[in-house]
Amino acid sequence: MKTQRRGLMIVLSSPSGAGKTTLTRQLLSENQNMAMSVSATTRRPRPGEVDGRDYFFVDKNAFSTMIEEGEFLEHAKVFDNYYGTPRGPVEESLEQGKDVIFDIDWQGAQQLTQAASDDLVKIFILPPGMQELEKRLRSRAQDSDEVISKRMSKSEAEISHWAEYDYVIVNEEVEVAMAELTAIVIAERLKRKRQLWLNPFVKTLVQGG
Ligand code: 5GP
Repeated sequence: MKTQRRGLMIVLSSPSGAGKTTLTRQLLSENQNMAMSVSATTRRPRPGEVDGRDYFFVDKNAFSTMIEEGEFLEHAKVFDNYYGTPRGPVEESLEQGKDVIFDIDWQGAQQLTQAASDDLVKIFILPPGMQELEKRLRSRAQDSDEVISKRMSKSEAEISHWAEYDYVIVNEEVEVAMAELTAIVIAERLKRKRQLWLNPFVKTLVQGG
């Protein structure tokens, strides 16, 4: 009975190193009916990143063609690279009633707000402190010192957009943050307007069914 539901578009934004990837992976592993939106990017893969799983790694020409052909739901320049959300897989998942997770920045969140605000849930993840953020970036050890200091200076700019989000989680302890994230998803799924099955259900209910 409880099947007909609109899929949520769950946007997770944060400065680099706030623990978003860990939270996203855990959320996906605990929810079968959820898909990750895989972005296209012009940045080079980091060690361990897999094309088609972490990103679709494309060159600038291919990225421009995708823009021209309207293949992106949103796209933006972040740091020195281009990032964009391919439209097709998102629409397919939503049609199947699946929730879609977007790991995108504030620019992408703004664009999605204009394009699809009804299905959108925007969550911002904050680090407990800037020192902790830098520590996490360094322990990841995948970027050079120069890239890390650039990312640190960009973090403040990303954080300045926190108030544009529906929910804010301070990720001090990952277990707590995960419980908070799960609570948000459950509450959003239970919103009346998203439970399309309720109308016929209540009709049957009052008829004594
Ligand atoms: P990274 O290079 O560390 O994987 O990502 C850098 C930033 O780009 C992160 O804040 C991430 O959320 C953002 N990002 C990744 N994919 C997209 C996308 O498709 N659109 C937008 N607007 N931002 C993205």
